[in-house]
Amino acid sequence: KDEVNIISGALELRKKTVSDVMTKLEDAFMLPITSVLDFETMSEIIKSGYSRIPVYEGSRGNIVTVLFIKDLAFVDPDDNTPLKTLCQYYQNPCNFVFDDVTLDVMFKQFKEGHKGHMAFVHRINNEGEGDPFYETIGLVTLEDVIEEMIQAEIVDE
Ligand code: ADP
Repeated sequence: KDEVNIISGALELRKKTVSDVMTKLEDAFMLPITSVLDFETMSEIIKSGYSRIPVYEGSRGNIVTVLFIKDLAFVDPDDNTPLKTLCQYYQNPCNFVFDDVTLDVMFKQFKEGHKGHMAFVHRINNEGEGDPFYETIGLVTLEDVIEEMIQAEIVDE
């Protein structure tokens, strides 16, 4: 029964897109680059439970880098380190994909690994009067794709 589910899940990957399984931008836990890594902010980060935190400049749609929890290992909350300092030091790149990329393609890209296991989903917005522009609408991780493949939720530790 499990095997049947996994096989049909694997076949479904070609029909579903990253926008079907992503976490919406408004639901994402993110930090402004102007944050200060004091006790309060670091507690909030730990409490969120996420291992990767998108960092934005200005508006939430403008993601500039990603903070990995492991980057915090040498940070002393008493130093009040600006997040920007840490981001400039690590310079973790962000990987963008279009909203209509199918999950089999996304899975392959995650598997190759050189761009990490999180991607930001963007689309071309040509609805308004002005010029079309890229709009970031969510984030997708390897876990989101695997859940679709096995047709079940992975309960986080
Ligand atoms: P983690 O290792 O941080 O638990 P996973 O890759 O296991 O992240 O993803 C678990 C779920 O959490 C996925 O549905 C993913 O889209 C979502 N997710 C990952 N990072 C964030 C974040 N910073 N804010 C909101 N949701 C997130």
